[in-house]
Amino acid sequence: MKAYSELNKEELLALKSQLEAEYQDIKAKGLSLDMSRGKPSVEQLDLAEKMLGIITDNEDVKAENGLDCRNYGAPIGLPEARKLLGDIAGVSADRVILGGNSSLQLMFDTVSRSYSHGVLGSIPWSKLDCVKFLCPVPGYDRHFAVTEYFGVEMINIPMTEDGPDMDLVEKLVSEDPAVKGIWCVPKYSNPQGYVYSDETVRRMASLDPAAEDFRIYWDNAYGIHHLYEEAEKQAQIPDILTECEKAQKPDMVYEFISTSKVSFAGGGISAIISSDANLEQIKEYMSFQTIGNDKLNQLRHVKYFKSLDGVKAHMKKEADILRPKFEAVESILEESLGGLGIGNWTRPLGGYFISFDAMPGCAKEIVVKAKEAGLVLTGAGATYPYGKDPKDSNIRIAPTCPTLSELILAAKVFAVSVKLISAEHLLR
Ligand code: PLP
Repeated sequence: MKAYSELNKEELLALKSQLEAEYQDIKAKGLSLDMSRGKPSVEQLDLAEKMLGIITDNEDVKAENGLDCRNYGAPIGLPEARKLLGDIAGVSADRVILGGNSSLQLMFDTVSRSYSHGVLGSIPWSKLDCVKFLCPVPGYDRHFAVTEYFGVEMINIPMTEDGPDMDLVEKLVSEDPAVKGIWCVPKYSNPQGYVYSDETVRRMASLDPAAEDFRIYWDNAYGIHHLYEEAEKQAQIPDILTECEKAQKPDMVYEFISTSKVSFAGGGISAIISSDANLEQIKEYMSFQTIGNDKLNQLRHVKYFKSLDGVKAHMKKEADILRPKFEAVESILEESLGGLGIGNWTRPLGGYFISFDAMPGCAKEIVVKAKEAGLVLTGAGATYPYGKDPKDSNIRIAPTCPTLSELILAAKVFAVSVKLISAEHLLR
């Protein structure tokens, strides 16, 4: 099949009516499919089933230091749970403060604290006329939702396969004191699955901000979420805290992680990781916020995984479930759309998403078309601040939650919708 742009009007019309028939056949099946949110599947959740019952009696509720986890205490987390999350992130336990079940909540709290109380003595953002954040795009919709909620002005930064456009980041961060932060998903980014290059990480750590309270929001949500076992297919990136220390900017980064996509998305444990000075401020804030998070859940995680090796062994089982799903979607996209010049997609080696770029001006219509045929996709535009994709091109594909057979159908519905809308678009 030729690229669509090479077809003449008659050929396009014939193609359109053939695709229309194909689409109607699919629609008639009355499907109900969902590739919209990056949730783990039931099969993945079942992998950690044994964690649920790992605390069986009153003898099991003690931490290593004898603390009774049913009671108040250890507001920043059990030492052994801080160690486990530190090991996952590749940092020492004293860099780690545990939150509740959601790292996003820690990110929200961090922005909120900066608004109400400032960052290490700087003017609270609520007292400033303008606060700006750099937003690598396409990116994670909930990051953008947090900063939008606080009225932050968000600036799009183009992503490359090596991470954000660092020339632009360096320029904006060093010239504009209103730029207070940047959202980063450094490994297996949401939605592309891109991995920041070593150079990007080092340039990030060497930023020279005009604002003393500028911070890198390093959301390492997918740090250990490899799809493949081969070492050369498992991304490794330099540790941002170490790089910031080397660059004499130890306070410039907050790192966030959680076990949402390791154990349970609704019942994991999360952590914020940072310098001593930043952690002191976070501890103070937390001392007013809570008398402590759920230590029984922290204990369950420690008892179940035991060590980083235990976590890695578990992630291998996760990968065995996810890999065929990613590969199925990629091969259907290749078979159906390869060489047609109507879309590009990423082929991640980890993480939770595939990013699809349709011909400019087509994404919204594709999402509507797919929905009419029973397939729910993430709303077009969601991967951009304010829900506005300037090219109306990007669609996030989340292949994790449906079963493999549902996913194969879903990818086919998606491909037909892309083809039909692209043909219609070229005929306009
Ligand atoms: N960060 C990224 C990049 C995500 O994709 C997600 C969930 O999809 C989260 C954070 C949410 O993490 P948590 O469940 O720990 O709040």
